[in-house]
Amino acid sequence: MKIDDKTSDSIRDAIKQKIKEKIKKELLEEVYTELQLEELQEEITDEILGVKNIDHSEGKIRLDPIPMEPVITVAKSDRSDAKIKITVKAILKIASHSLKYANTNIRKENWVEVIGLLAGTYDKSNGILHIEDAYPMGHGTAVYAEIKDYNNFTRAYEDIVKSKQFICGWYHSHPSYGCFMSREDLGTQKRYQSFWDKSVALVIDPYQINGKSLGFDIYRANFTNKKWFSVPYDVRGNLDVRMLPEILEFMAPIIEGKPAYLEYDE
Ligand SMILES: [Zn+2]
Repeated sequence: MKIDDKTSDSIRDAIKQKIKEKIKKELLEEVYTELQLEELQEEITDEILGVKNIDHSEGKIRLDPIPMEPVITVAKSDRSDAKIKITVKAILKIASHSLKYANTNIRKENWVEVIGLLAGTYDKSNGILHIEDAYPMGHGTAVYAEIKDYNNFTRAYEDIVKSKQFICGWYHSHPSYGCFMSREDLGTQKRYQSFWDKSVALVIDPYQINGKSLGFDIYRANFTNKKWFSVPYDVRGNLDVRMLPEILEFMAPIIEGKPAYLEYDE
């Protein structure tokens, strides 16, 4: 089935408008990843063109992906009400771990993702999850990192239990391509949320640690509609985002196993 350019343009505008309306309506808690936007586009295209029941292989009108402005995550103004508090220690560990494999000394095409566990405590009296610490587990390819070594997982698990905490989620990095969760990440999250339903996924883009942003977001997934939603968090203690790049720069040699500084004759 072929449609002429002019019709196609007006259909595209209508679809774009509908996607925007839908997102606006749902956005308070929802986060749309690129893949979900694509799906949404498909759904709305079907709706508008009324071709819902036509067989997928034949006769279905396909429009090229419609470029949408990035959909930014939400509801961060109410940090004081946040049910998640994260320590500066955990932030520094996660940020420095992600920078270790994606920094200006490494060519950008060699930057890779890192992955690790989040350890925390849960305060039943007020429902606040405290993310106390992070346990770096590994690094992977440019677009995917997973915890491959079960022995290391067990070791981390034992260390976490010893410190009277529990595994409350996981983190991974998106060096330079922004904070969002993909459909692939749903599988990983499912394991954590079936372990503990309040488990979280933290994603960090070290590239966004620029003095204006902490560079990370925290999510949970809704497995009924297979969508991610972001959860507001607060930092425990005082961390000035403007200081973060400088602190991390100071930590860089330590991360590489070198001394932070030496006296001249040391
Ligand atoms: Zn990812």
